[in-house]
Amino acid sequence: MVEHTCLVLNQSYEPLNVCLARRALGMIFSGKAEMLENGSGFIHTSSTVFPIPSVIKLAYLVKRPFPQPKLTRVEIFSRDHYTCQYCGKASNQLTLDHVMPRHQGGRHTWENLVSACSPCNRKKAGRTPEQAHMKLNQKPVRPSGSNYLNIPLQLVQLHYHWQKYLPEITH
Ligand SMILES: [Zn+2]
Repeated sequence: MVEHTCLVLNQSYEPLNVCLARRALGMIFSGKAEMLENGSGFIHTSSTVFPIPSVIKLAYLVKRPFPQPKLTRVEIFSRDHYTCQYCGKASNQLTLDHVMPRHQGGRHTWENLVSACSPCNRKKAGRTPEQAHMKLNQKPVRPSGSNYLNIPLQLVQLHYHWQKYLPEITH
């Protein structure tokens, strides 16, 4: 049997994670989840045919399913999709930039930290974006639970059934 993957939604329709379809089937049979989408075909056994779930919804609400992401360089880079927030270039050699520089009272928070390539970081130096005449591509925010869901885009693209449940990934 091909290892189909299945998107798991909380009872509130919030995306939680991805599991193997066989595990999803087990959860449906035991009443822990219901199938929302059958996008992966059918399993034929000798006596019956089961649809292979591609999206399931839990029958109960999972509380705080996401560990709060820690404020680290890697988490900031990941939130910014490994792109410089000033020039928009993707890079694996990013630096951390305090939007409001620390010596001007800027804090070490999600809302004041962005990824910057080294040329942009050098250009900005110890100034605010306004002082340096540079513009942030977007306002830095603390990643929320569902934004933070770590599903590879390629996997989402393979499963068009998932896309309506994952607006923040596909739009
Ligand atoms: Zn840059």
